Amino acid sequence: MTDDTRSPLHRPVGHHADHAGDEHTATGPRQQTEGNAAAGPIETVLLDRDGTLIIDVPYNGDPSLVEAMPAARSALDRLRAAGLTLGVVTNQSGLARGLITEDQVAAVNARVTALLGPFATWQICPHDDAARCRCRKPRPGLVHDAAAALGETPRRCVVLGDRLRDVAAGSAAGASGILIPTASTPHADIRAASTVAVSLHAAADLIIARRQPPTGRRNSRSPDRLSTYAVLS
Ligand SMILES: [Zn+2]
Repeated sequence: MTDDTRSPLHRPVGHHADHAGDEHTATGPRQQTEGNAAAGPIETVLLDRDGTLIIDVPYNGDPSLVEAMPAARSALDRLRAAGLTLGVVTNQSGLARGLITEDQVAAVNARVTALLGPFATWQICPHDDAARCRCRKPRPGLVHDAAAALGETPRRCVVLGDRLRDVAAGSAAGASGILIPTASTPHADIRAASTVAVSLHAAADLIIARRQPPTGRRNSRSPDRLSTYAVLS
């Protein structure tokens, strides 16, 4: 009772379920023993902003430059329709560096909401590395704060992001994590992540499957679902 009892969120995406205990799981740095069936389903999805919800424009303070990631709206709406609560956890060190203002961040975030729909909580770290704050990802403060704001426990949250620091923040807080790489994601991040999805839609597939596990089919994997993933490392 090892691999078969693990949730889909902790399977190496793109590998056949019968071989889930292969080298990828054996070498993954953050294989978790919690977050399994005993922890209950995922209720809350916490999303990185830049490079995950929207195209990354470094230190952007101009809402007119905000562009949603491809198919992001429909993927988020699938999660909403499945009953999941959505929140945003974002590092904005441009504030500490004096490159953007709080008003600009608020304007950009308002544009994100206009494009992608409502989020139940926004948690923003305004610091840079020098501040050694509790909240700058990969530290877990934003995840803890988002969970607290929603009356949720981190173990029922999953963090989605395009960098290892996003999923590491989730892991540090006791949440699950799914890396959704872009072209600029370091390959080392992809190799180190325990769960990787090729798109927000693929991540939504994993999350919804865990929320609503198919009865009587717990050891089978739908070919349709598997086909939406790719081996990335
Ligand atoms: Zn901070």
